[in-house]
Amino acid sequence: MNRQPDKINYLYGRLSNEDERIGDSMSIENQRAILTKYAEDNGFTPYVFIYDDGISGADWDRPGISKILEDVEAGRVKSLITKDRSRLGRDRLKLGFLTEILFPQHDVRYIAIHDNTDTDREDDIAPLIDLFNEWFVRNTSKKIRAVWQSKGKSGKRLAVIPPYGYRKAEDDKGQLVIDEESAAVVRRIFRLCVDGMGPAQIARLLNSERILNPSAYKAAHEIVKKPRPCKDPNFWNTTTVHKILDAPEYLGITINFKTFTKSYKDNKPRFNPPEKQLMFPDTHPAIIDTETWEIVRKMREHKRRVPRYGETGLFTGTAYCSDCGAKLYYHTRIVWNKAKTQSRYEGSYSCSEYRKDVQYLAHGRKCTCHFIREVMLEQVVLDDLRDLLDFVTRHEKRFIRLVMDKSKAEQTRDAAAKKKTLAKHRQRITEIDALIERLYIDNASGKVPDERYEKMSAKFEAEQADLIRAHDALEAEIGEQEETADSIEKFIRTVRRYTTEIEKLTPAIVHEFIDRVIIHEPEQARGDRRQKVEIIYHRIGKIDLSEWLTASA
Ligand SMILES: [Zn+2]
Repeated sequence: MNRQPDKINYLYGRLSNEDERIGDSMSIENQRAILTKYAEDNGFTPYVFIYDDGISGADWDRPGISKILEDVEAGRVKSLITKDRSRLGRDRLKLGFLTEILFPQHDVRYIAIHDNTDTDREDDIAPLIDLFNEWFVRNTSKKIRAVWQSKGKSGKRLAVIPPYGYRKAEDDKGQLVIDEESAAVVRRIFRLCVDGMGPAQIARLLNSERILNPSAYKAAHEIVKKPRPCKDPNFWNTTTVHKILDAPEYLGITINFKTFTKSYKDNKPRFNPPEKQLMFPDTHPAIIDTETWEIVRKMREHKRRVPRYGETGLFTGTAYCSDCGAKLYYHTRIVWNKAKTQSRYEGSYSCSEYRKDVQYLAHGRKCTCHFIREVMLEQVVLDDLRDLLDFVTRHEKRFIRLVMDKSKAEQTRDAAAKKKTLAKHRQRITEIDALIERLYIDNASGKVPDERYEKMSAKFEAEQADLIRAHDALEAEIGEQEETADSIEKFIRTVRRYTTEIEKLTPAIVHEFIDRVIIHEPEQARGDRRQKVEIIYHRIGKIDLSEWLTASA
């Protein structure tokens, strides 16, 4: 006789960071103890204990629960037991589906010990418990967020772990004080950088001296309560050194809201743009003086130009494809010398639409490669910028006149088309007003039934709103163009700040002068590789200097 294998009794535990924050201190170990005792006392043997650690109850993509539900659907489960219903999840709709539809369908008995619910009995209270659990986490999370926001806005430090070099004051946990031993290492790292050492070299030096790395140091000195396991406490990686050299905290500054999370259902930290971060000076003693900090900033700006793997390019976000208009994608590759004895990273760009399709070759690529090496692009832009600055410095008045003429010509071409569209928009907006009015009268007289009236008037109003938005945007654009003189003046002011010739492009210079560069596909002519690059400057647009220079000759 074929005996069916025994069905499983599952005991399930869950603990999320959120639960810990809202004060649920029921550790996985405690849950296990409660569950196994209950199972043994009540004859749910043998049993299997499965848990998910660090995952919110609003998230159903948990490995442990997924395994259990898979087995439920396969008919392998006899019962499921949790400490309380919120361990299973905090989403009442999903819980309702599980306990009222899925479990009964597969003959699974579900017990929540502390809530005293059991699917073998009639439980009127169960949905209310679920509702309360969901409300509780949402409400608490809202409150925590509000407290968090006001704390952060008042300049109190939000980050829990002190930066390396500091520890929390004994009498006031919110206050950072200098931890002399690690602060000495921070000062040394800055000094080594000023002396010309790069982060990788600094990391190697610290490694050779077997100095504890920041996480190991914080763990050893109990600056962090729950340290993460650390493979090699003496290993410093380059990123750690980078982070230290870039941390404004060492100037005595607190930065809050570096990251944010979307909601209690989505706890993934995301980076805030700089304008949303808040900065508070002098919140704690500085470890590094402003002069050293400034020198290190300058040194690091120059160092940036040796591409490293994974670094962003000088023109990331500025370079565009001439054919499809997509941004160019920056990538680095290793280039060897002829003897294969030395290698270096070389940065280059290619069309992101082209790159995207590599995985889906069957569908064909949307664009071509538009490949350009960063050194080439840098040279082209640097030469053009230098010539332009030189021209502006020597012939300022002529420059102003030429740009004015150029933009006037562009404007007349452009404005004619825009004004035509504008007139069309205006006409349609008035038309819609009339239509809505007629519709209203027809509805009032009973010609158009209410339901139809609601639908149609909503449709007209939506169309009108869209038109008004487009109209205003267009009008603003036309207005903007008329401010050319002001733009040129601003551009010249930027130029004046560069009194000596620019030797190297930095991200700051690129962002200050250049709106975008447009890269064309190279042309192969008699073994000659020619590639067109268009440079669009901020405020003044594209400048064809060679034309002006020949005109003046
Ligand atoms: Zn493209």
